Amino acid sequence: MIDKGNKNRNDRTWAFWTDEPTPFEQIVYRSWDYLHLADDDSAQLIDLQDYRYQVIRGIDFYRFVHDALKACPNVTLLQATVDRIIDGPDAAQVVVGDTTYSGTWVFDSIFRPAEIVESERHQYLQLHFKGWEIETGADVFRPEAATLMDFRTPQEGETRFFYVLPFAPNRALVEFTVFSDQRFSHQEYSEALREYLAEVLNVTEYTIVAEEQGVIPATDHPFPRRVGEHVMTIGTKGGRVKPTTGYAFVRIQHDSAAIIRSLIDHGHPFNVPEDSLRYRMLDTIMLEMMDHYGADLKPVFATLFERNPIQRIFRFLDEEGTPLENVQLIATLPPWQFIQVAIQWQFSHNMHMHPFARLIDVPHDPHPEQYDAEGDSWLHLASRMFQ
Ligand SMILES: Cc1cc2nc3c(=O)[nH]c(=O)nc-3n(C[C@H](O)[C@H](O)[C@H](O)COP(=O)(O)OP(=O)(O)OC[C@H]3O[C@@H](n4cnc5c(N)ncnc54)[C@H](O)[C@@H]3O)c2cc1C
Repeated sequence: MIDKGNKNRNDRTWAFWTDEPTPFEQIVYRSWDYLHLADDDSAQLIDLQDYRYQVIRGIDFYRFVHDALKACPNVTLLQATVDRIIDGPDAAQVVVGDTTYSGTWVFDSIFRPAEIVESERHQYLQLHFKGWEIETGADVFRPEAATLMDFRTPQEGETRFFYVLPFAPNRALVEFTVFSDQRFSHQEYSEALREYLAEVLNVTEYTIVAEEQGVIPATDHPFPRRVGEHVMTIGTKGGRVKPTTGYAFVRIQHDSAAIIRSLIDHGHPFNVPEDSLRYRMLDTIMLEMMDHYGADLKPVFATLFERNPIQRIFRFLDEEGTPLENVQLIATLPPWQFIQVAIQWQFSHNMHMHPFARLIDVPHDPHPEQYDAEGDSWLHLASRMFQ
């Protein structure tokens, strides 16, 4: 495993929901049975029932994984920068300075946003955020519920909200999150955080004990998995980030398990589940909404959580809901706005002859024969939509 970072900093906090134990139970930092949602007109406290919302701190994850790997004599960790990955007929080569390593399978998670060649068929938003972990003198947070989305902030034509992860009555991670095509200056994030703390949470006296900042691609751009005979993409580079939520942690764990199953069953890592066309289409519509009507999404999220059982919402966001469950969920939302956006998307992306069909492009695929020869025929597409 080659990584240029030494992974000894708490550079991120992973939050996720789950209804089953993960391999990381020992290092769960906090776990909540309730979620809180708010906008200017309403507030909801949602009982997660079989689910829980959990947080793992980056530093705990890195230590836990490194300790586990130390016990594996067949794993070597190397702190170094990978310059290039070269595919070959029998193995792939990883070039690190003057040294070349060879592997039957190379898993590439080096995501370089600049390498994405933008296409008019897709949308390229960014989910960008900054969070402060703060400590207050007084007890101001309610540790029994994590705030998933608080829209009480000026939307400025975009989808903007706050997360609050209360670790204790006087300590929380408060994060300002935006879906837009441009990132903000440090000052803009800080001003939004200060304003939210003071005007919405009534918190003016606090110490910032840690900061977290990041950007996650929110795009329906295709991320091919097999990028060579012996090279497979993983993580963000392998398209494992759900573009409309930014959540990736659990998806990456499921993907790792699928890769291992494929290696055991097929002798190669590539037999992993294909992304669902149905969910990709829904992501595309949602991204279009965020791009053009970002500020209108506040009431949509409120309605979504008010009118659907939490299991249905999580199954939808995890891309595990059946077509019927999807229809039930979508029926609770304002339909005309979504239909209008879907139609608008067809025209603005020059797709009126082949609606959504051209979403399925898998660039640089050395094994085109593995994909269905029917290509993007209507029948084929329709059948995949309801799989
Ligand atoms: C700040 C932040 C918070 C997030 N919070 C959540 C969350 O709460 N829940 C959730 O589900 N998802 C979250 N995500 C999204 C996603 O889960 C993470 O981005 C996750 O770490 C993605 O895994 P990855 O393997 O693709 O990338 P990374 O974890 O970033 O790993 C890529 C690795 O590649 C190394 N590297 C890069 N270039 C080179 C090179 N040339 N040579 C050698 N090594 C190299 C880096 O050092 C890094 O260790 C968050 C992302 C960020 C940035």
